[in-house]
Amino acid sequence: MSKKKMGNVWIFIEQDGGKIADVSLELVCKGTELAKELGVKTEAVLLGSDISGLAPKLHEFGCDNVFVADDPGLRFFTALPYTSVIVELIKAHKPNIFMFGASPVGRSLAPRIASTVLAGLTADCTELKIDSFEDKAANQVLPNKLMQIRPAFGGNIIATIVNSWEDPQMVTVREGVMKMHAPVPGRKGEVTKVAVKLSVEDQVIQVLERFKEAKSVNLKGAQIIVAGGYGMGGKDGFDLCVKLAEALGGTVAASRASVDAGWIGHDYQVGQTGVTVRPRLYIACGISGSVQHRAGMAESSKIIAINSDPNAPIFSIADYGIVGDAKDVINKMIQAYKGGS
Ligand SMILES: Cc1cc2nc3c(=O)[nH]c(=O)nc-3n(C[C@H](O)[C@H](O)[C@H](O)COP(=O)(O)OP(=O)(O)OC[C@H]3O[C@@H](n4cnc5c(N)ncnc54)[C@H](O)[C@@H]3O)c2cc1C
Repeated sequence: MSKKKMGNVWIFIEQDGGKIADVSLELVCKGTELAKELGVKTEAVLLGSDISGLAPKLHEFGCDNVFVADDPGLRFFTALPYTSVIVELIKAHKPNIFMFGASPVGRSLAPRIASTVLAGLTADCTELKIDSFEDKAANQVLPNKLMQIRPAFGGNIIATIVNSWEDPQMVTVREGVMKMHAPVPGRKGEVTKVAVKLSVEDQVIQVLERFKEAKSVNLKGAQIIVAGGYGMGGKDGFDLCVKLAEALGGTVAASRASVDAGWIGHDYQVGQTGVTVRPRLYIACGISGSVQHRAGMAESSKIIAINSDPNAPIFSIADYGIVGDAKDVINKMIQAYKGGS
C-alpha cells in the first residue's frame, strides 16, 4: 500500500500597500523550521492586487514556493473573495499545516476557511512543535503532528491541542510570539501563479474607502520597557513608571489590571490579550506575574522585578528581583540614574 504523501507547511501572507506584515514574516520563519523537521516545503499564500513583487522577499525568508493570486478584485481585504480563492487552493494542494497571523484579517479569514474545509483551528497559539500523538480513543499513534500550544481555561493551564483528523492543521499566532530570523539575500524559490475567478457572491462586499488610525505606541520595537501593575496603587503611582521610562529612554507599558483601572490605554497592555514584547530590558513594577502577563514578556533579554511580596510569581522569571515598595524603589532609581543622591 502506498504511503500518503505529506502536505507542505503554508503561511497566509498579510500585506498592505506593498509591505508584508511582520507577523507573516515571523510565521514564515517558524513555518520553515517546522517544514524542515517534517521534510516538506514551506509555501506562502499571497493574495492582493499588484503584489507579485513581494514574492522574492518571501523566498529570502525561507519560502520554497509562493502561490500568488494577483487580481484587481483582491485590492482590499474582504473575507469572501479571499476565502473562496484559498479554499480552492487547499482542495488542489492539500497542505499539512496552515498558519495565519492572529490579526483582524487572520482572525476573520482563518475560521471561514476552517469551517468551509472542515478543518480544526486553534487560535492564538504561543508555541508550535512537531511530535507524535497517541490517540487513545482510536488506539493509534499519529506521527509528526502539529502540537498547537496555548493558554486555556482563562490562562490557568497551558493546553496542547492536536488535530487527529484530516489536514490541514490550522492555527493563528499573534504578532511577536514567533522569532523572526534574518533573511538570506538572493535566496531563490518558485512562484505559482493562481488564476482568480471571482463569482458574483464573492463581490457583494466592496470597500469604497479605507481609514487607518496610526498606532499610538510601538511597544514591539522598544528596547527598554518599564511596565506598571496594579501594585503602583493609582494613577499617580503609575506615572512614576512613565517618569522612569523617560529617564531611561524607554517606553512605558502596563499589566491588564492597570489598563482596566484606567491608568493607561489598552495599546500599552503587555500579555496574552495585549502585545508580546522582547526588549533588552523589562522592568516590572508592582506586577504579580500572572501567566497571562508572562506570556507577553517572558522572552525579554533581562527582567528586573520590583514587588513588595517576596513570593510574587514574577520573581520566578526575573534576572534581578527587588523586594520593596515600588514607588520608593523607582524614585531611588530615577535619582540614581539622573546622578542625584
Ligand atoms: C483570558 C485572560 C487574558 C488576560 N490577558 C492579560 C494580559 O494580556 N496582560 C495582563 O497583564 N493580564 C492579563 N490577564 C489578567 C491577569 O490574569 C492578571 O489579573 C493581571 O495580569 C494582574 O495584573 P497585576 O499583576 O498588575 O495586578 P495584581 O495581580 O493585583 O498584582 C499586583 C502586584 O503588585 C504587588 N504590590 C502591591 N503593592 C505593591 C507596592 N507598594 N510595591 C510593589 N509591589 C506591590 C502585589 O504584591 C502584587 O504582586 C488576563 C486574564 C485572563 C483571564
